[in-house]
Order: sequence, then structure tokens, then C-alpha cells
Amino acid sequence: MKSDLVIVYHRQPYEEVETETGVEYRENSSPNGIVPTLKGFLGKARRGAWVAWKEAEDTSNPGFDPVIEHTDSFGTYTVSRLPLTAAQVKSFYHVTSKEAFWPILHGFKERYNYDPVDWPEFRSVNWAFAEAAAREATDDAVIWIHDYNLWLVPGYLRQLKPHATICFFHHTPFPGPDMFNVLPWRREIIDSLLACDSVGFHIPRYAQNFAAVVRSLTGAQLVEDCETPSSLCVAGGALNDRRMPLTLRYYGNDISIHTRPVGVNFDYLEDLSNEAEVKTRAADIRADMGECKLILSVSRTDYTKGNIEQLEAFARLLERRKDLHGKVRLMLVSVGANRNMTAYAEVQERIESLTGRINGTYGSLEWQPVALISTAIPLAQLVAYYRAADIASITPLADGLNLVASEFCAAQDLARPGVLILSEFAGCAVLLEGAIPVNPFSNASMDAALDQALAMEPEEASARMAALRRCATTWDITAWTKAELAHFAELHALRHTAPDSTRPAA
Ligand code: UDP
Repeated sequence: MKSDLVIVYHRQPYEEVETETGVEYRENSSPNGIVPTLKGFLGKARRGAWVAWKEAEDTSNPGFDPVIEHTDSFGTYTVSRLPLTAAQVKSFYHVTSKEAFWPILHGFKERYNYDPVDWPEFRSVNWAFAEAAAREATDDAVIWIHDYNLWLVPGYLRQLKPHATICFFHHTPFPGPDMFNVLPWRREIIDSLLACDSVGFHIPRYAQNFAAVVRSLTGAQLVEDCETPSSLCVAGGALNDRRMPLTLRYYGNDISIHTRPVGVNFDYLEDLSNEAEVKTRAADIRADMGECKLILSVSRTDYTKGNIEQLEAFARLLERRKDLHGKVRLMLVSVGANRNMTAYAEVQERIESLTGRINGTYGSLEWQPVALISTAIPLAQLVAYYRAADIASITPLADGLNLVASEFCAAQDLARPGVLILSEFAGCAVLLEGAIPVNPFSNASMDAALDQALAMEPEEASARMAALRRCATTWDITAWTKAELAHFAELHALRHTAPDSTRPAA
């Protein structure tokens, strides 16, 4: 049966585990995170489908059913597993997406690597995704594509499904023309995105950058914009934009520019943090810390996340504040990425060597200044650390949104709230009022933020945390889901109440 909502996302909507009795599909244990959030939409459609890739040695004879019916707590839906070889995954995902697109999206021109990109292969994988999605979709379905590794899918889908409502959401930053136009395939990517009914972004700045890129490359016109709501603009924020683009017109078609940050599952995290087991775990962590204050930093190992700068700031803190020796610890959770990717392996090595240097220089048998954790911590444990920490220091150099900052706020022990230091270059900085803003490119700013956080009186910390929690709730996942569903309904009605307004094939 065809579906009226098709979600195209590179990962499968469950954990696939090999057991003695065969393959088991395990539901993600927590409802927090992008996969469970997106699955929530499938339950709301009459019939839903999910398209992802699955590795196969021989794609014409993959050894698994490409299309299955899957039932979990979200309902019964179709999962289409597009067979890709390891070489295809490496080329389209690890090379083109991560080595060429990722640095440009985050503003790191110098890390951009064009040489190994196999563009025909990128096209052919995106075409295969488009075909898989088209096979599952009714003619007037809403097809929702996620992230830059599938940039060409909308254009191909428009050829295959001219009457579908095609939406695309970016989970990353989107840069302005000076940066984006470094990509030699810029026009092809933008033409594909202009085949959408809606192109989505976390914050107004990324949407403005997209509109500027479109206008730099095409004759499309911005026909509608609006003032940014105050809840998406913090005082003096580096990523603020006072206006949001709403509609671009291209060859008579209107493309909606949709700005809506994907939040966290606030209520779930708050409840989890208040479970007896988590409270006990947090109390144990605090007891182990003794007199020490705990600074917590959580992210993936990635040059965009600023973990090296974080460690350097901590080293400077210990250098200039001898009074803090034995009184403060940094727990740096930097979850190791794919070691085969040179850029990430280099960052991991620098993190390890800096940690060793700080602990070797300042540490003693009784006091280890930095605890480096390189493997992922399960959410329930992470929440206990959020609850126990005095300070969360989230200092990416560039970050689409950053969920950790909002998770920290949701998981607070209100009797002793922590302090949030937040990079001005994390997308969520424009929506989280109450953090200590920090510029991770400035040593002076990083140093001042740590001093301010360590010296903050409980009354100020409480007031700031109350404000932060209000913001995180305003933009939580319930609000996002509601807004997206309303947006789809509006776009679908627009397309189908005016049947002559179908778009030209891309
Ligand atoms: N996370 C986790 N365990 C860890 C580190 C991170 O479960 O040890 C989760 C974290 O709770 C958050 C996500 O990974 O939900 C990271 O999302 P974020 O938006 O902050 O960064 P991304 O990795 O998507 O760039």
C-alpha cells in the first residue's frame, strides 16, 4: 500500500541487532533524539513510510527484503531499505557529504576537500533514494527529506512525483553565498532545493543565508518576509537575524522558507531526571566530586564542536587560577567518530594529547583535572551528569542547533541549578535566553565566561536557569511536531486546491 507521508532519512528507524535467532529490530530506548521524533509523525499519517539505506555487498541481490512492514510503539509503517554497497556509502556519505559539504556548511573553507568527490556517484545514490521514495508515495503524498546528504533528492522526486508536496529540512547551519558558492555543484543543489514546496531551517539566519545563496545563483525573488519573533532573537546574539524570509518565487512557483528549531523532548528529560535512580546516581557523582566543582562538556568529536578550544580554555584557567587546583574538574565527553575519517581522527588525537598534558601538568594522585570520555554515555546516565554538574560548557565553533544545551536545562535539579555557558555560534543560542554567551574564537571571552560561571551566586543561577527552561519548553519537540504538521497541511492544501499550479519537472 502506498503512503501519504514518506520520510527520507539516511538512518533506519530502529537499531538492527544480530541475535542467535536472526536479526532483531530494537526500538530506540529513549523518545529523545531525531529518529524517535520523526517516527512520531508516522503514527499521525493515514499510512506512513520511511526510506533509509542498508548496506549490501550486491545491490541487485542484497540478501534482505528491501521493503518491509514494521510495527513498533509508533504504529505500523513501511520501511524501504535502499541497498547500497560499502563503497557507495563511503563515496556519497563519508566523502562527498562529510569531507566536502560538512566543512562548507559549518564555515571551514580550509577543510573542504573536493578532490575525492565522485559527483556522478552522489547523483546516482540520490536518484536511487528518490526512486525508493517515489515507489512508496501516493501521487499527492507529503515527502519529507532530511539533510544535506540528500540534497539532490527533491529535484529528482519532482520528476517522478510532480504532484507531491516535497519538503526538505536542514539539521545543520546553512552558510551565505561567500561560503556556499565554494561548492562547484552549487547550482545543481539549489535547483534541486527549488523544486521543493518548502525548505526548512533551524533558525532565521540560516534561512536568510539560503535566500541570499538562491538570489546569488538564480533569478528567484523573495516575495514575502517577516519580522523575527522575539523568542528567536537573544540580545546581541551573533546568529540573530531581525527578519525571516517566508516565500521565494521561481518561474511562477512559490517555495516556502520555513524556520523552526527542532527542540528536545523536555518533559521526558525532566521526568527522567526526577526518577529515583537518576537522582541517586547524581547524588553519588556529587559525593565523588567532594569539594570540586564539575564542569561538563558533551559532544561528538568533530572540529566544529570546539573541544580543543574547550580544553585550552581549561588549561588557561588552571594556569591563572592556582586557587582552583583541586577544586574544579572538567568532564569532557567527546564521543569518538569514525576513526577512518582523517579529519576526525586528527581532532581525537589532539584532544587525547591535550588531556594528557593538562592531567600531567596539574594533576595528582588525588585530583585528575580532566576526565575524557570517548564512548557514548546512555541518556539516563548522561542526565545524571547533567543534574550533578555545576556548569555545562557548550562551546562549538559552529553548530546547527545543539540539543545538549537544552537537555542540560531540562534535566536540572531546581534545588541547585547549574550554569550554562553557551557558544554564540550554536543555533540554539538565539533561543536560549539566560546562558552566559561565549565566543569560542576569543580566549578572553572563554576565560571570562568560566570565571563568571564559577563565581555565580545561586540566586542568579536560579533566575537564569528559570529563563532558560522557559525558552527550552517554548521550542520543545511537542511544539515542533505541531508546527510541522500544520505546515504540511497548509502546503498540501495550497498545492491541491489549485490543481493547475503543478510545477514544471525539475
Ligand atoms: N549524546 C548521548 N550520549 C553521549 C553524548 C551525546 O546520548 O555520550 C546525545 C545527546 O544527548 C544529544 C545528541 O547525542 O541528544 C547530540 O545532539 P546535538 O544536537 O547536541 O549534536 P549533534 O551530534 O547532533 O551534532
